[in-house]
Amino acid sequence: MPTNPELNSGYVSDTNWRQKAECLKMDPDIFYPHNEQKQSDDEIAIAKRICAKCIVRLNCLNYALSNAEKYGIWGGMTEKERALFIKTRTK
Ligand code: SF4
Repeated sequence: MPTNPELNSGYVSDTNWRQKAECLKMDPDIFYPHNEQKQSDDEIAIAKRICAKCIVRLNCLNYALSNAEKYGIWGGMTEKERALFIKTRTK
């Protein structure tokens, strides 16, 4: 059982949260496909698995939603999933 509560929350109260990102030293192409339509389900799954264990996942997702990031996988959500989330949240 983890002793650090941040490990389970996906959120850290740190303005430098990016420095704790699981993807910090990874190839950005994993998270920024040029065209989600052409990205295979396997590629999306790889990115999502990385995000799932990221301790700043909610910081990342909140940033993407707050800044209307149109492209890439942020906080474990694809651009389509974020768009759907925003659409359903505002109804
Ligand atoms: S949630 Fe995913 S994209 Fe966001 S910082 Fe973590 S690993 Fe990177």
